[in-house]
Amino acid sequence: MKRELFLEDSYRREFRTRVRKIDGREVVLEETAFFPGGGGQPADKGILSIGPINAAVVDARREGGGIVHVLDRAIPGTVKDLKGDLNWERRYAHMRHHTALHVLSGVIWRAFGAKVTGGQMRTNRARMDFSFPGEWTAEVVGEIERLTNEALAEGRPVRVYGLPREEALENPDLIRTQVNLVPERVETVRIVEIENLDTQADGGTHVANTREVGEIEITAHKSKGRQNKRVEFSLS
Ligand SMILES: [Zn+2]
Repeated sequence: MKRELFLEDSYRREFRTRVRKIDGREVVLEETAFFPGGGGQPADKGILSIGPINAAVVDARREGGGIVHVLDRAIPGTVKDLKGDLNWERRYAHMRHHTALHVLSGVIWRAFGAKVTGGQMRTNRARMDFSFPGEWTAEVVGEIERLTNEALAEGRPVRVYGLPREEALENPDLIRTQVNLVPERVETVRIVEIENLDTQADGGTHVANTREVGEIEITAHKSKGRQNKRVEFSLS
């Protein structure tokens, strides 16, 4: 894979590229805007078109340094170039939910000293698990929702950049999010920073400003053990 376009520009929704390999329904491209899934964000769907022929991308995954696009049908092995179009509505929903999760993560760390242990996003909802040290009540959940919406409405810029591994390992914000788990062969860590709120090593796609997220509504919350808590939310 020469370029993973989604890492450079999360708003890139179409592209033309050369084919590297076709194996029945599985295609590897020179470049792609299709996110292969990871870090709680689902793989993108969309269309690959060869002239007038369209094939749906039903899944994508990372494999051996490339990204495999899984199609709904086999395409001829002779195809050299094609065009890709993301299902943008779906991807943009993932971006909004992903940024919302990071804002939530920053808020609960700053307000309650709670660390995130996992997260998962969909097009219409997301959930986050964290280790919460204090008492877990409906009032606390209401406060988390209020503080998150306040931070979102402040219109904080979301910046994506690379940081040398050594620097990342010394940044206290990044240590909190376990940057040490980034594989040692990675020399430059990709950072997603929400201004004055949350900084994480992250490979996903985000909106450019928290205002694009809108508001969260916490739809469910539960205690999954003494410290392990979960919130689910949707966006409006
Ligand atoms: Zn993330």
